[in-house]
Amino acid sequence: MNLHEYQGKEMLASFGVAIQRGIVAKTAEEAVRAAKELTETTGTGWHVVKAQIHAGGRGKGGGVKLAKNLEELQTIAGEIIGMQLITPQTPPEGKKVNQVLIAEDVYYPGDSEPSEFYMSVLLNRATGKNMIMYSTEGGMDIEAVAEATPHLIFTEEVDPALGLLPFQARKIAFNLGLSGNAFKEMTKFVSSLYKAYIGSDASLFEINPLLKTSDDKIIAVDAKVTLDDNGLFRHKDLAALRDLSEENPVEVEAREVGLNYVDLDGNVGCMVNGAGLAMATMDLIKQAGGDPANFLDVGGTADAARVETAFRLILQDPKVKAILVNIFGGIVRCDRVAQGIVDAYKNMGDAIKVPIIVRLQGTNADLAKELIDSSGLNVRSATAFQEAADKVQEAIG
Ligand code: GDP
Ligand code: MN
Repeated sequence: MNLHEYQGKEMLASFGVAIQRGIVAKTAEEAVRAAKELTETTGTGWHVVKAQIHAGGRGKGGGVKLAKNLEELQTIAGEIIGMQLITPQTPPEGKKVNQVLIAEDVYYPGDSEPSEFYMSVLLNRATGKNMIMYSTEGGMDIEAVAEATPHLIFTEEVDPALGLLPFQARKIAFNLGLSGNAFKEMTKFVSSLYKAYIGSDASLFEINPLLKTSDDKIIAVDAKVTLDDNGLFRHKDLAALRDLSEENPVEVEAREVGLNYVDLDGNVGCMVNGAGLAMATMDLIKQAGGDPANFLDVGGTADAARVETAFRLILQDPKVKAILVNIFGGIVRCDRVAQGIVDAYKNMGDAIKVPIIVRLQGTNADLAKELIDSSGLNVRSATAFQEAADKVQEAIG
């Protein structure tokens, strides 16, 4: 689950991470009030207006703007709220901005040497350890830095049993070229950031830019936070921050009915029981020359109601040219599933316009095949993996 920048910063601050302070606003009037309130606490009259959407690159897309006074701030906030913001990370049509973060300007006017660093915390799947990735080349596209100057990106792995050790935080501050007070501030920043990562069960933090001001403050100016969904039950307060308007509506619907569905870009929908078989089925579709339109694990009970829900979810995607059902009847009997498919199909009338290929293996697979073949519906049965792949290929042409 992703957080908005303002939510991520609030969470980080609760762990003692130094952040650019700000207040979220839903209207231009609220934005003005937020700016006044901020001026009272920070003393600065300049504010930055930042669109809150679940995508980066907002600066490039015109979603981050500086206001010199309250009139300007009101105008800018009015323009950004409600706009369709297009950035390199949004879908081509962009994302609607429903709220802005009014933040203190931490780039002091006249500050000749603000340094923008990059810092992220994530899991290195190869070593099974969390790592802190950081660079002196912050503020810009880190992918471009990685491409052109990979030696400017450092990593520090953390032993899960020991946690982040003080010498590691010092090494990071040193590699970032800091000394004196800024060095101390950076070690504090790094250790509280790592504490927040563990404490919130996060799977990704990305702070870009991480700013060093001329008076040696180290401040998170941006915060991309992804939390591990499997850890959310331990964080009711964070789970409540989910913004459904930012998520894929089909995935939201699937979650509500307890189905494990992930939307993908391909043309073959699939319905499978078990995550492992679902992954293998996606490979099978690729092998057949197609591309999976989704990942869907229907779980152990593939009855008519559940099959129908799954079909409806898959068919919401207009790119789907065929559906592959791949079920192993271990606990559930294949003939039950087959009956479920036939019933769901009949129930849905003419909602199903694409061919369905069904591979049922396991208990009563023969009976299931008979049921499908004699149904008279546009459903083709297959028993072997290869046979299913061939039929998918035939269906998509
Ligand atoms: P992103 O483009 O979605 O990654 O959004 P960021 O939060 O990183 O903001 C984009 C850019 O806006 C940053 O790289 C900064 O250069 C700039 N920016 C952010 N906050 C301030 C600020 O307080 N003052 C000034 N002058 N620029 C800022
Ligand atoms: Mn950024």
